Amino acid sequence: MSRFSGFYKKTRQERIDILNQERMLQAKTVEILRKNQNLPENIAGKMAENHLGTFCLPFSVVPEFLLDGQEYSLPMVTEEPSVVAACSFGAKIIGRSGGFTSDIQNRLMIGQVALYNVAEPQVAQKNIEHETATILSLANQAHPSIVKRGGGARTLRTEIKDQFLIVYLSVDVKEAMGANILNTMLEGIKDYLEEISRGKALMAILSNYASESLVTARCRITISSLATSAALAQETAEKIALASQLAQIDTYRATTHNKGIFNGIDGLVVATGNDWRAVEAGAHAYAARDGHYRGLSTWTIDREELLGQMTLPMPIATVGGSIGLNPKVQAAFDILGQPKARTLASLIVAVGLCQNFAALRALVTTGIQAGHMKLQAKSLAILAGATESEADIIAQQLRKEQHTNLETAKQLLATLRGN
Ligand code: NDP
Repeated sequence: MSRFSGFYKKTRQERIDILNQERMLQAKTVEILRKNQNLPENIAGKMAENHLGTFCLPFSVVPEFLLDGQEYSLPMVTEEPSVVAACSFGAKIIGRSGGFTSDIQNRLMIGQVALYNVAEPQVAQKNIEHETATILSLANQAHPSIVKRGGGARTLRTEIKDQFLIVYLSVDVKEAMGANILNTMLEGIKDYLEEISRGKALMAILSNYASESLVTARCRITISSLATSAALAQETAEKIALASQLAQIDTYRATTHNKGIFNGIDGLVVATGNDWRAVEAGAHAYAARDGHYRGLSTWTIDREELLGQMTLPMPIATVGGSIGLNPKVQAAFDILGQPKARTLASLIVAVGLCQNFAALRALVTTGIQAGHMKLQAKSLAILAGATESEADIIAQQLRKEQHTNLETAKQLLATLRGN
């Protein structure tokens, strides 16, 4: 039996102990978790302007997550009840069918210099393309340390769009997300581009549409594992496939379908100190790549199996930005087993697919409210002013009520206290 079985019923300290034994955590990580260390004041004040303090969210873990034959524990930061439970449930079912697999087509970040007032755009375009080697070399000279790390500017292409001549630069940023690296390089080539195009540079900036950092995650779930009866399992699989088709054609559903995917993705992206705005922006652009906003994942039936698949741009880092500054982020990387950026990117796409599976399964069977409100009830009890011991009682009572809202929680608390 897994050491993680019944993990959700353990105390916080017991969970840390199990995680420590199973994932061989560093002593520093155990200390951070035991003492619940967060971002120190003095560091927070250097990270953002006008700072008044720090802001906390629950830091949780999905204990067993199988990707490419290896088991991981995934740290998740989320304020939304039921996300971690649903993900753990999805990971368990998919794990029984062999877990997730992933592949990465490329890992380059793209930046752009937008030129305008170019007198002869076609001539300028030819001049720039002719000077590709010089431009790549200038970009690398602007950020020599990334070249020493084995990365650097790789390719350049140009496009004329209305009054703009746009130069796109692709860079291997190794373990970084690369925004600052790219921006430095782009500013390094801007003057030369103005000179040879005889135009003006409007801006030189990274693009968050990381279309050369695509990551695919897949899973094959044995349909019979979806329910205790074969007929219900088949029906569930068919309904999940139908739900996937609905998300391809209806924007209202696609948006919610993708929000559910980001319940998982953002949890892991935030826990690892990465830029979730960058990940979100890139993925939503990718969801609309053919001009129609669609669900990011697809689910199809292949004989006895339900196949899930999702491809996303994943501009993720294991170094740089604020990653080294937050003790919880350091703990998150240790819990993950200190992955390289490629593995982390794969885990993030796979967790999105996992979360999507759990949501769709609930939606087409019991509906999501049953599970969601169970956990929401506890938050409502606390919001109503219940102490920790009162919260469990109020949450239980709330679940029997017709209206699970704050008002009902307050009334139940007043009754419990004899007011
Ligand atoms: P950094 O500016 O922190 O650069 C990463 C640094 O990490 C590199 O310069 C490098 O330093 C160091 N490093 C150490 N080991 C490695 C390694 N193995 N591979 C690569 N680099 C290594 O971060 P990024 O350039 O990645 O930019 C990300 C930050 O920029 C995020 O905080 C993001 O929020 C922010 N940002 C985002 C924008 C956007 O998304 N549009 C725009 C502007 C900023 P060394 O010099 O020693 O090589």
